[in-house]
Amino acid sequence: MSNIVKSSNLGYPRLGEHREWKKLLEAYWRGEIDDQKFHETAKSLRLNNLKKQRAFGLDIIPVADNSDYDHVLDTIAAFNLIPTRFGSYDRPLTLSEYYAVARGNKENVAADMTKWFNINYHYTVPEFDNTKPRLLDNRWLRYWQEAKEELNINGKPVILGPVTLIKLGKLNGEYVSSPEDINRLLDQILPLYGQVFQELDEAGVQWVQLDEPSLVKIDDDSAISPYQRVTAYLHEIAPKLNVELQTYFDSIDTYQAVVELPVQAIGLDFVHGNGENLKSIQQYGFPEDKILAAGIVDGHNIWTANLQEKLDLARTLQSLAPNLWLQPSNSLLHVPITKKYETAASAALFGGLAFADEKLQELVTLTNALNGNQDIDVFEENKRALKALNDSEARNNVNVQVAIKNLSKQRFERQSKYAIRSKKQDDILNLPLLPTTTIGSFPQTAVVRAKRAAWRKKEISDLEYQDFVKAETKRWIELQEKIGLDVLVHGEFERTDMVEYFGQKLAGFFATQNGWVQSYGSRGVRPPVIYGDVDYLEPITVAESTFAQAQTDKPVKGMITAPLTIVNWSFVRDDVPRATVQNQIALALRQEVINLERAGIKIIQVDEPALREGLPLKKRHWQDYLNEAVYSFKITTTGVQDETQIHTHMCYSDFEDIIDTISNLDADVISIETSRSHGEIIAAFENAKYDKQIGLGVYDIHSPRIPTTIEIEDNIRRGLKVIDAKQFWVNPDCGLKTRTEEQTVDALRHLKAARDVVLAEL
Ligand code: GLN
Ligand code: ZN
Repeated sequence: MSNIVKSSNLGYPRLGEHREWKKLLEAYWRGEIDDQKFHETAKSLRLNNLKKQRAFGLDIIPVADNSDYDHVLDTIAAFNLIPTRFGSYDRPLTLSEYYAVARGNKENVAADMTKWFNINYHYTVPEFDNTKPRLLDNRWLRYWQEAKEELNINGKPVILGPVTLIKLGKLNGEYVSSPEDINRLLDQILPLYGQVFQELDEAGVQWVQLDEPSLVKIDDDSAISPYQRVTAYLHEIAPKLNVELQTYFDSIDTYQAVVELPVQAIGLDFVHGNGENLKSIQQYGFPEDKILAAGIVDGHNIWTANLQEKLDLARTLQSLAPNLWLQPSNSLLHVPITKKYETAASAALFGGLAFADEKLQELVTLTNALNGNQDIDVFEENKRALKALNDSEARNNVNVQVAIKNLSKQRFERQSKYAIRSKKQDDILNLPLLPTTTIGSFPQTAVVRAKRAAWRKKEISDLEYQDFVKAETKRWIELQEKIGLDVLVHGEFERTDMVEYFGQKLAGFFATQNGWVQSYGSRGVRPPVIYGDVDYLEPITVAESTFAQAQTDKPVKGMITAPLTIVNWSFVRDDVPRATVQNQIALALRQEVINLERAGIKIIQVDEPALREGLPLKKRHWQDYLNEAVYSFKITTTGVQDETQIHTHMCYSDFEDIIDTISNLDADVISIETSRSHGEIIAAFENAKYDKQIGLGVYDIHSPRIPTTIEIEDNIRRGLKVIDAKQFWVNPDCGLKTRTEEQTVDALRHLKAARDVVLAEL
């Protein structure tokens, strides 16, 4: 009665099980291999990924989802849409031309990168000014043919849709959003997609996956017209080619309009988006002549799916849409490849993990079950594995759970209002006007990294490593004193990463051995896995901070990472709400903050750089998210006396729309990145009548260039036009861990000199 269900994938991770892809790119950049060797190796990696997917029994295998760097860059390179400072072409770009856009060259800095929707992946930002679009390379056909010829796989080319491509890019420095601009750019670009589709159609391609994730961000039917235009045009030009219109990362608010678009399959996310896609199908039905490509396995988290629950969901969907494919909710690019190397995980945790390969197996298992071929053993084993993890000690920490229950009985506020406590802080700290400080980290030089690597490999003892960190801290305390800064930092030499470090010291976290995901280009990250109740085991940063404080009479600022940032940059358990995990972390860090205070640390900075980038895709969810952020920040920071000064730091400048939240954090001092967009941010603070203290970043730390004293003076003076000198701190934009020692010292000398000049004018 019901039709055969198929399994389908949306994209496979690029990095390689042992990061072969990363190593390939970097070897090429170092000039160790030539173009030919690069292409040969890239091809074998690509084919290997396809073979693997086929071996799992997947019915529909994506092709052309591979990349030599980033899929947005691939798309703009294929259509001659690269920023024009990198040239304009009438033939496919060579590898070195392609990498010039990605990484910059002698003449040009790299094209801008920014975050891909709400995922920690960075794409190349298109700049459409003066581009002359033309099709240089039908890479989609090329890779389809390769899979067909080499492996006899009739793959599904994945192509980033034109509307999303346009919306991800900029015109005159602003993201494209007006209907006129979108239409004008479509006039130029759509015919090229037409050409691609026509060639695919003629070659006998059956399915193409047209990714239009920007559909999840629109909330009224009037914004659907560019998508209508695109799908109608492509259908007309390539009538035999079946199109899967793919959305992901959230539900769609324009369901009725989307399912009527002239395509053959609609890809929807049934993992994210609060079940709204399911409600829409239940309410409005699904067109009989279309395939529902249902994303039912989480494509951006790493937990084993509850197969019985997923099967029930799939059955419900099948009853509403008899033509069904089962898919991950989004490309598996955003999860690591296989869990098989995670030998350090406990049995309970291991059983609960599912990386890309395990997810594909889940999809095939579910598809078989729907087709009347249920592997009872696998379902039983799945049930046992989930139960083992849920019953594990790590997930049943009674103390933590009681503390979470009792949260509602407590008020997380500072003892006194800002006006009162700031006086007490002033009396103790005795800082000059326009105090100078830095954001926390100092250069993680080759020497620092080599020592840490040696320690990890057990080539040097714990003691030797600790002594090294101490010596480095001491040296930098002296350097800061010599420069004449007012509030010093210990330098974060003990940390590779501001989230990983805390994960290593708190219960409930697991550090993977091989859980790499692509962050940008060849760069991989291994997000910590938060799998259990988070608990405070022992002081985390107290020894480093007090050691540093003992070297100087100036105040040393303690330095921790705030709960939301830790959550956003980790893989988080999905059996409890994210806010619960965030609050558990907050309760643990509250103890750390109190311990720092007890140990004599008078200023404590709680970094929250991920606050803005983690904003939900739909604006209607912003307020809950922001409230949760404020709440967990306050749990962390309100355990201290009035006299202790709480700082926070955020590294972005675009926050007009969240300035209330920033004020609600009730931090005594906030430092923010501003040197790249001074005007707007200052106006934002002026409009908000911000009453607490602010450190506006007075120089850009992302560049090796050393700012002049005059430039910094100007930046300080500009800030002082709208912010009272009593509220104003002088600091760089962000941490200095990527700079050299020389750059850091010189820049900070200029910063101090500039402050002195401006101070004398007051
Ligand atoms: N304290 C951190 C540092 O200085 C802050 C980093 C960040 O904002 N991303 O490196
Ligand atoms: Zn920062």
